[in-house]
Order: sequence, then structure tokens, then C-alpha cells
Amino acid sequence: MALGVGTSLRELPGVGPARGRGLEKLGLRSVGDLLRCAPRAYEDRRRSYTFRDAPEGVPVCVAAMVAEPARYSYVRKGMELVKVRLVDETAAATATFFNQNYTKDVLRVGERYIFYGKVERAGRRRRLTNPAFEREDKKRFTGRIMPVYALTRGISNNLVAGLALRCVEECAGQVEEVLPAALRREYQLPTAEFACRNIHFPADEQALDVARRRAVFEELFCLSCGLSMLRRQRERQAGPVFSTVPMEEFLALLPFSLTGAQRRALEEIAVDTALGGRMNRLVQGDVGSGKTMAAAYGAWLAARSGYQCALMAPTELLAEQHFRTLEPLLAPAGVRAGLLTGSVKGGRRKQICDALRTGGLDLVIGTHALLSEGVEFARLGLAAADEQHRFGVAQRAALAAKADESPHVLVMSATPIPRTLALMIYGDLDVSIIDQLPPGRAPVETYVVGEDKRARMYAFVRKMVEQGRQVYVVCPAVAEQEETGPAEGILLTPAAAPAGTGCSGGIKAAQPYAQKLREEVFPELRVGLVHGRMKGKEKDAVMTAFAAGELDILVSTTVIEVGVDVPNAALMVVENAERFGLSQLHQLRGRVGRGKHQSYCVLITGSRSPESRARLKTLAGTCDGFRIAEEDLKHRGPGDFFGERQHGLPQLAMADLAEDMQVLKQAQQAAAALLEANPDLSGPEYDPLLGRVRALFAENPDMFN
Ligand code: ADP
Ligand code: MG
Repeated sequence: MALGVGTSLRELPGVGPARGRGLEKLGLRSVGDLLRCAPRAYEDRRRSYTFRDAPEGVPVCVAAMVAEPARYSYVRKGMELVKVRLVDETAAATATFFNQNYTKDVLRVGERYIFYGKVERAGRRRRLTNPAFEREDKKRFTGRIMPVYALTRGISNNLVAGLALRCVEECAGQVEEVLPAALRREYQLPTAEFACRNIHFPADEQALDVARRRAVFEELFCLSCGLSMLRRQRERQAGPVFSTVPMEEFLALLPFSLTGAQRRALEEIAVDTALGGRMNRLVQGDVGSGKTMAAAYGAWLAARSGYQCALMAPTELLAEQHFRTLEPLLAPAGVRAGLLTGSVKGGRRKQICDALRTGGLDLVIGTHALLSEGVEFARLGLAAADEQHRFGVAQRAALAAKADESPHVLVMSATPIPRTLALMIYGDLDVSIIDQLPPGRAPVETYVVGEDKRARMYAFVRKMVEQGRQVYVVCPAVAEQEETGPAEGILLTPAAAPAGTGCSGGIKAAQPYAQKLREEVFPELRVGLVHGRMKGKEKDAVMTAFAAGELDILVSTTVIEVGVDVPNAALMVVENAERFGLSQLHQLRGRVGRGKHQSYCVLITGSRSPESRARLKTLAGTCDGFRIAEEDLKHRGPGDFFGERQHGLPQLAMADLAEDMQVLKQAQQAAAALLEANPDLSGPEYDPLLGRVRALFAENPDMFN
């Protein structure tokens, strides 16, 4: 039977309906699927040894004969053994198979097989445990670098590798070449065929590297092309046209002058909204960098152009805070602003809704309540969202849908994301980066300390409070895990800590921690508690009390990450700091240093691992959120950035964004250059690429609003 990339794997010998289903579970339906998937590891089976000269501790190939019939023994349910005695020219050995009963029927006395596994020695005895094997006269994988695939129940690696071998031999040449020859030359990439062959069955390590680089490049290049094309498509969609009012008129409203980075962001907004396309822009900047000015400017510009603006914040408190700053700021320019949160009810609510519907309000600031039914706009021109990752794509879309004409979208995020990743994570958003703080901010002094300094830390807390300041204490957990019980006061037993955290002191939980502070450590101080399991109203009440100075210490989980401004808070203590990402710690640290007082951040860690300490020390050394994010990326990989977001991007099969940053940059550059020269990818040599890009996004039809 002649194979093609479209041939179903079920048609191949050895694949019945049951295995076919198993393969489908792995995403493998056709020959093409198999060729496109990547092994998760490799085994070096190139060299063969005899039993006598086999090195210990590493898996190797040994050709040997089965000397005696296999012995089967039933140990207990779920534990069955097959033992086989093997000999080669130099020595004998015993192979033991656990729960692989088929081996006793497959391995025949007098036949020679090649076994792959570790040869262990105990005295003069040699032993192999669960070795892989194949008959010497029918060997397929011996002498090669053998691919190891992801597997599922009923699907062995020999099956998948065997299928892959046949598919590669017959069809590697048919694999679609999506990278035009000129591009391959420019970036020194091999052909698709070479990559396919060497990813499954590498000729050597070097060939594997070259092949893998090509595959990663291809994946990221196609993704970059797709994202750029989506962006262009969106830019071609008609959006409201805002007037070109001189920015000076806006600047005259402000009590301070903007930083250069803020001005750049504002100019980008002006350009985006003036050209007739639809803006979809993310403003990224550290806490305190003044992102709110971007929203203020957008709202002002919209109002001056006869459009309305809706600004969504993730909590009522934050919405109220924005209202309190923006309303008086913009009122002199004639911008009529309203606040609409869940707490605004009855007549007041009706009044605001009516005004929005009739055009009597230019700016509405609120929470998710803005999405609710009954909220209609006369002429929504800009939908802005603060702390965007708390808003899903769907919510932004719902807001956008409240207008006849799709409004411009502006989102603000304080999570610094390395530039290269931002495109991948935010898809087709354009990104403005505010990488400068307003002048005169004293950096938060940051210290990394061990458990031994706990008493001093408590003393410092007391001193700050005596000076009239307020203190945040952040814990990684809410409550003690029930099953372990209250082991030693506020501590969890070390056993409750996940292995490998390097956490010797146990994990601090906010509830018992707050209780201990109240009862034992600071009985004379006012200690509040806020965490994610509390209702929104309760949380807001505690936050308001803290903001009003009615609490000295606020014990919390990371829920305070997005919070209201409390300029009097000047100390942030983070317990079990090693359990947080650097970017998250930086975000938490941003809760202090918002007022005129010198502020401090104390990171407490029980970890003795030098790497973990060094990682935390980065924070002591810099206040640059982007540098910290890069550091996070280096140490923890991109998971931290991807994890908390619904990015909706196609799954990456080959690329590991932490490892492959360099290739990612090249792929982005190549995609940008290509689309610059040929925006529609016209020409037959681009057909395969265009097809691939379309297929990539066909599976994610709603990835963008
Ligand atoms: P972000 O939302 O980026 O964390 P904000 O927009 O809340 O930051 O700004 C933080 C504080 O800095 C606010 O009190 C704001 O009024 C002030 N601010 C913003 N821009 C400037 C500036 N250019 N100069 C001085 N103060 C500024
Ligand atoms: Mg903000």
C-alpha cells in the first residue's frame, strides 16, 4: 500500500480499531499527524555492547540469546513478574519484566534479541529491568537514535516508533514546505523533509538540533504571520474616527507633566484612533507608572470627538478610585462622568443608564456592572479596561457589542511581560510600554531575610506602626490544610509543603496567621484579614477600612495584588516569598511606596537554596518590572505569564518559549519583514504558508474579539 500524508493510520498494518482509537487520543489520525508530532525524548541506541563491557548506570544495547523458557510469577494483584535468562558471548544476565506478561510468550528460547536497558551488576550477576527489545534479525531501532513518543494506554512506544519509521521513510518527502527557499537561506534553515526525518530519527545530535530549530522557527513564524495578518485585518475594520485635537489641551488639565513614556503611549492612542481603523491597544507599565493617564486621555479624546467612553475596573473600589481622580480631572474640559457599579442602585442607577442611552454622559466608570443588561450607550467610541487579565476576551467583546460601530479597545496591565512574549500572549493587541516612573519616586527598599530574622521583622512592623504607617503581610495560603491539623501554631507541618519547594518552615496561611498576630504578637494593634474566599462585599469592607487607616496591619493572600491606593502603607511583608514568581512579588511590592513615606518590602523565606535566594535578591537590586519579568522568564519559564491568562493562542507543539527566545525573535522578525513586503502573501510559493496560517487560526475562531 502506498502511503500519503493524508492516509489514515488505521489503514496501516498492526493498527486495528482499538489501537486506532488509542492513537486518536494522542491526536494522531493520519500519517501527516504523526509526521508533525514531535518525540518527547530520544534514546541513543547507536552503540551495542556485550554484557561484559556494558557500562553501568546508562541504558545500552546488548545482543543476547534467550537461554531458558521464561518464568512467570504472580506476586500479588497488580504485581506479576516475568524473568528471562539471557546469554551472549561474554556472560549471562537476567531480564526481569514487571507487569508485562506478554513477554513470556514473545521471547523465544534460542532466539537472539537486542535488549536496550541498564545492565546492573550485583556481585557476578547481571540484571536488566524492563528492557526494551527487538529481534536481532528484524531489528528496526538498534543502531539509531530512537524517538520516544507520548503514549497512552494500549499504545506502546514500539508501535508509534514503528509507524513513524515507515511514515518517515515513505512520506518525509511529501511533507509540505511552508518556508519559502529564500527565507530558509536567509535564516539557515534546512528543508521540511530534512527536519521531518531528523526530528523522528536523528542522524546525530547536530542534525537533531538543526531540525528542531527549523521546526520551532516554522511554528513561531506561522503564528507570527497569523497574528500580524489578524491585526491588519482588524486595522482595516472601520472604527470611530476621533478628532485630532492638540494634545496640549489635555496636558493643560494635568497637575503634573507627563513622562516621556506616557507621552509616547498617548501619541500612539491619538494615531490609532484618528485613522479610521479600530484600535486594540494594551498599555503596559509598572505599578505607579501612570497608566491611568492613557485612559484619561482616551476618554477626553472620545468626548472631544462626540463619542462616549466606558472604563471597566476589576473591583468596585478601584472603579470608585478612578472615578474620584478622573471626574474632577476631566470636568473642566466639559467631560461628564458617571460611576456605575453594583452598589449604584435604584433611581441613581436609572439616571445614569438614561444618560448613557441619551448621550448625557461622556464617560462611565464601573465594574462588570457595565456589561449588564439595561446598560446601553448612545455612541460608545472607546472601551477601556484596567488590569486587563481580570477581564476575559468574552467580557471585552460584550462591552464592544454595546455599540453599533465597534469601539476602540484600550486595556491597561501592570504585569510587565517581556516584549517578545507580549505579542504571543496578547495576540493581535498593539502594545504601548510605559517604562518610566514619574520623577521623585523613592524606590521601595527591599530585603530578603530568613526565618531567623522573624523577631526583628516583628519589631520593625511595630516601629512602622508607631510612626503612624500601615503594613501589609501577604501569605501564600488562606487556611491550613484540614487533614494536617494545626501542627505548630501558624505553621503547617513541613510534610504539607509540596516536595522540592525548599520550604523548611512550612507554609503560612493567612487565617491562622492573622489570628496569631492578633492574639500573641501584636495584641495592641488593629489587625485585619482579607482573602479570596471572602465575598466581594466583605473584601471591599476590609480594604476600605485599611485605606481609611482603621487597621494597622492587613494580613492577606495575593488578592491585594490589584488594590486601591493606600499611600500611608509603607511596609510590605511577604511570607514564603520563594513560592511566588518574581513578577508577582514585584506586583505586590507595588502596593507600597505610593505616598511620600520611604517604603520597605521584606521577603521572608525559609528556603536555604542559594538559587532561590539569588532569585529573590534580584528584587532587592532592581525596581524595573521588565527586567524582573525577563528574570522570571529565565528561571521559571513562560508558564507564569501564560498560566494565569486565557490567551487562546494555538497550542505550541515544538517551541518552548523560554528556551527558544532567540528563535522567537528571529521568527517574529522574519514574519514582519515578509508581510511588510507582501502583506497578503500572494504568489504560489506562499500558498502552503497561507494555508497553514489559516488552519492554525481556524481552530480558534473566537480567539480575538
Ligand atoms: P498605574 O495605574 O500605572 O499603577 P496610576 O495611573 O494610578 O499608576 O498613577 C500613580 C500615581 O502617579 C497617581 O497618583 C498619579 O496621579 C500619579 N502620576 C501619574 N503620572 C504622573 C506624572 N507624570 N507625574 C507625577 N505623578 C504622576
Ligand atoms: Mg492603575
